[in-house]
This record gives sequence, C-alpha cells and structure tokens, in this order.
Amino acid sequence: MEPKSAEIAEAVKRILETIPPGVTLVAAAKGRTVEEVEAALQAGVTHVGHNYVQEAQPIIQVLGDRATWHMIGHLQRNKAKLAARVFDMIETVDSLRLAQAIERHCMLLGVTMSVLVEINSGREPSKTGVFPEEVDDLVAAIADMEHVRVMGLMTMGPRFGDPEDARPYFQQTRETFERILSMNLANVTMRYLSMGMTNSYQVAIEEGANIVRIGTKIFG
Ligand SMILES: *Cc1c(COP(=O)(O)O)cnc(C)c1O
Repeated sequence: MEPKSAEIAEAVKRILETIPPGVTLVAAAKGRTVEEVEAALQAGVTHVGHNYVQEAQPIIQVLGDRATWHMIGHLQRNKAKLAARVFDMIETVDSLRLAQAIERHCMLLGVTMSVLVEINSGREPSKTGVFPEEVDDLVAAIADMEHVRVMGLMTMGPRFGDPEDARPYFQQTRETFERILSMNLANVTMRYLSMGMTNSYQVAIEEGANIVRIGTKIFG
C-alpha cells in the first residue's frame, strides 16, 4: 500500500472504532482523487459525500457501486439533473425551487431521491440552508412531491475553533428534527440528522447526529 493509502486506512479505522453503532460516517471527498476515495472504501467507508456534482461524477463512474453517494455541497438548480442521476441522497435541499427541479428530473428518470433539508442553524447570511422557522413549509411542500422524499435534516453550523461553541446549533437542529418527527407527516421519514465535521463530530453525536461528514481527519 502507498503511504498515503495507509494513512487514510489508519484514520478511517480510528474513526470507525470511536463512533457508536447507528452513526453513519460519510467521507467528505471534495478535492480528493479516485485513489484517495478508494483507499477510504477499502478501509471500511461505505458512504461518500461530495460538494460538486461535476467533480463527483467521474469518481462515481469508477467507484459507484462500492458506496452510497451523498451530495453535501450547495446544489444549483441547473445541476439538479446530473445530481439526480449520480447521487443516492441530496443532503442540501434548501429551497422549494431546488426541490421542484429535483422532482422534475427524478420523475423523468423514474427514480425517487432521498433528501435532507439543510438548516442554516447559525443564521449566517453567507451560508446556505433555510432558517429553522422556514423548515416546516419546505418539508410540507416536499411531502407533496412524488419523487423526492424527506429523510431528515442536515446542518453545517458556524465554524468555530472550539467545537463546544457549535453545541447550541446542533441542539437547536435536533429540536427542529424532533418537532418535525412528532408531526408524523405522511410521505416524510425523519430518520437522519447529519451534523458534525472533523472538529465537531463528537459533539454532534452527543447532540443526536446519526450522520457525520468527515473530510480532513480522513484524508489529511
Ligand atoms: C468539507 C465538508 C465537510 C468535512 O469537513 P472537514 O472539516 O474536512 O471534516 C463536511 N460537510 C461539508 C458540507 C463539507 O463541505
């Protein structure tokens, strides 16, 4: 094994040993090569996230059937068609128009797309995601779509040096998750809560995340 692959394998092993069962590790692979992603898969990664549809496509072409592929970056509507073709889940739905574009392309493809609604829990103007008070309307609108299924929520949260500072944003997103879950909406399956990255995933898991998206700690 090349040194880089060995390092990736070691990092994946350490992470998988420390996250509880029931929490899915999504390897965040933006900017990574096919070889790097393959090393992560060989070490036991089963889910890969990517931020850019066009960068992800050639990687998915090679490794597609060996993992489940999550779109984790901001998705532009004009990329919805390609995203519908290559990804298994889109974690970053944050507008009705985007959801409608996904619905249209999935209908044409005859597939159903699992999506998470992205929450801008830090209410940062520069960030994507809907504000917590806008979630209900978006979830309700998607529930009426035949080819898009809400499976939960995702949040980035503000980036801090100290992961403890992210805790309130994870807590708030968890509360939003629980609230929607308790509504028991038809055609909505509140199963996944995607929160936490390299520096914050332990705090996110403590606050109820069952998907963590980790890049730097795996790939360096
Ligand atoms: C890059 C990225 C991650 C992983 O971040 P790291 O700090 O490298 O672990 C997670 N989620 C999203 C949406 C990202 O863009």
